[in-house]
Amino acid sequence: MDLRYKELKYCKGVGPKRAEILRKELHIDTALDLLYLFPYKYIDRSHFSYIRDISSEDEYMQIVGIVVDVQTVGTGKTKRMTAEFADRNGDTIELVWFKGLQYLKIETGVPYILFGKPSFFNHTFNFAHPDLEKIVSQEQLQTRCGLEPHYNTSEKMKSGALNDKAMRTIIQGLMPDLKEGIPDTLPDWFIEENHLLPLTDSLINIHFPANGRILQKAKERLKFEELFFIQLQILKQAKRQQMQSVGFRMPIVGRNFNNFYYNYLPFQLTGAQMRVVKEIRADFVSGKQMNRLLQGDVGSGKTLVALLCSLLAVDNGFQTCIMAPTEILANQHFLTVTQMLRGMSVNVRLLTGSTKQKERRELLPALQKGEIDILIGTHALIEDNVVFANLGLVVVDEQHRFGVAQRAKLWAKNLQPPHILVMTATPIPRTLAMTVYGDLSVSVIDELPPGRKPVRTLHYNIQRRQQIDNFIEQQVEKGRQVYVVFPLIEKRDKKNKEEEQKQLADLVSGYERICHRFPEYNISMVHGKMNPKEKDLHMRLFAEGKTQILVATTVIEVGVNVPNASVMIVENADRFGLSQLHQLRGRVGRGADQSYCILLTDFALSKDTRKRMDIMVATNDGFRIAEADLQLRGPGDLEGTQQSGLPFEMHIASLATDGQLLEKARRVAQTILEEDPELALPKNSLLQTGLSKLKNSTTDWSEIS
Ligand code: ADP
Ligand code: MG
Repeated sequence: MDLRYKELKYCKGVGPKRAEILRKELHIDTALDLLYLFPYKYIDRSHFSYIRDISSEDEYMQIVGIVVDVQTVGTGKTKRMTAEFADRNGDTIELVWFKGLQYLKIETGVPYILFGKPSFFNHTFNFAHPDLEKIVSQEQLQTRCGLEPHYNTSEKMKSGALNDKAMRTIIQGLMPDLKEGIPDTLPDWFIEENHLLPLTDSLINIHFPANGRILQKAKERLKFEELFFIQLQILKQAKRQQMQSVGFRMPIVGRNFNNFYYNYLPFQLTGAQMRVVKEIRADFVSGKQMNRLLQGDVGSGKTLVALLCSLLAVDNGFQTCIMAPTEILANQHFLTVTQMLRGMSVNVRLLTGSTKQKERRELLPALQKGEIDILIGTHALIEDNVVFANLGLVVVDEQHRFGVAQRAKLWAKNLQPPHILVMTATPIPRTLAMTVYGDLSVSVIDELPPGRKPVRTLHYNIQRRQQIDNFIEQQVEKGRQVYVVFPLIEKRDKKNKEEEQKQLADLVSGYERICHRFPEYNISMVHGKMNPKEKDLHMRLFAEGKTQILVATTVIEVGVNVPNASVMIVENADRFGLSQLHQLRGRVGRGADQSYCILLTDFALSKDTRKRMDIMVATNDGFRIAEADLQLRGPGDLEGTQQSGLPFEMHIASLATDGQLLEKARRVAQTILEEDPELALPKNSLLQTGLSKLKNSTTDWSEIS
């Protein structure tokens, strides 16, 4: 029987009822689909232990012994059953059950195989809810070999008698058919060249591995296949787009670029900045449209790279727009750029939500006539009445704040799409970039301008408040400035409304406490609930050094540049994600002074929070932090993927742990497409089939470029 066409209900141990549950819960139809439900873990049942071997709570163990005594204790909710279990050495341990007592049938004096995970309770080990299997024949002690697979099941499945054990039995029942072999989904030459296990062997061993080594091989084959098809898809699409998308040619390095570079640039470019400018220039002369992601840690000098590229565009007769996610940031870019270009004849203008109608009436026609060279702004740039004469380059700063649709709208501002440079300070782990932004080229600024002292990060609990206040005092006495950041979610839905109120109250009372503690200082407060005028005023007061302490929410997270600020205090740091904390820390360490980031949390921490704090203290490297974030939260929750989700479903491979395999899969896909871009060769026909079966998400990625 071909497992590909065998219906679920005809599989041993399934039947029509359970088939229906499986279909509803897991969206599967065939025996082969069952084989693609991979175990989430394996337990080594090849080894028997003794009670005296127990040393931790982490390991499952199996022990042979007898139950010497059974008792039911307590009543009602506290009712439980306990048993004393003795092994072959005569050592004993307590077993305990809290639930399902009516189903338990435990006999004393007969031998059992106990299987479970020990727990440590009241200064000693016991087993809660262990499996007990009566030994009726000597064989039971010999036949259990190798690794036992365990399967995820849902509540609905469990109530339909499809628990972990039942799933194991059902899948075991498919093995005889499977062993006769099923057609491979990859061509023979491909399997051979990449040293992969054939599909049949992989499926057998992913469920019932004879040993750990063969399990590894099986996993590797299945992961590799999954990653390979995703990369094949991405690269094929990207190639097609590249062939189609003609880009503006910008071959000239002209007057403006050279004048700025040789006469106005206030410092030497870092090696990384230089390299990235060269990469972008290569795109400008290629005749193809550029779609480039520029990653660089906070303070690495991305703005300058954007400016240099804008000047290249201007030299070639094109306009540039630079889009920032907040008004504060757009203003700041405008100031930076106009200051740097002071004395040059480049026309730079600002357009935000606060730009007055009167100014707009003059600005928009000028833009349309091509009199404006560089337009800096916010979302206001996307509006339909903003028309360029000749838009050649779009720079999107801090891209994760923009949705896909908004970007697509910008792209459409020309008949021919402009070159796109997307800049982000939230480094995206390479694996994620290759999967989510597979069609973007990636540049990295991995070097900070010279003379920066790394920020020192400390993690304190709030009981040390007094000490921290003293530290703030010291720093302010030295002429430094201090950020104090509170978490504040701003959500519309009701449930979060309460949380928002509470957090706002925390922020305000924190502000009041600080005002009270430091009556001699000027203190600013900004948060998203304030009116924009007041917010801007206070940001400016702080930026100009007129206030010493800024109490704020994450509105300051993105891009704000106050070099004199040397202390970042994060209240309730456990409420922030890793990348957010890293962004916040990037607000300090911008001047020549030693800077500090102090993370404040409660005394009791969850394991996850402790890890996040430890990582922050241990490293300043944004890429390492992004990797750690990926490990802790999984790819779906990372910024950059939140709005759009991952474009591909993955069953077995993980972006967090299978980076090397992904790189290899990508290389292989690349090589194949170079030879056969449309997968038209007969030897690649299976690959084409696999590609068409790939479950793609609904996101239309062609919109982006
Ligand atoms: P980010 O990459 O976070 O956007 P910015 O572009 O704001 O960083 O740059 C941070 C600071 O570093 C700015 O004050 C900028 O003027 C300065 N800077 C940029 N490039 C250099 C350089 N090559 N040498 C010295 N300072 C630089
Ligand atoms: Mg920036």
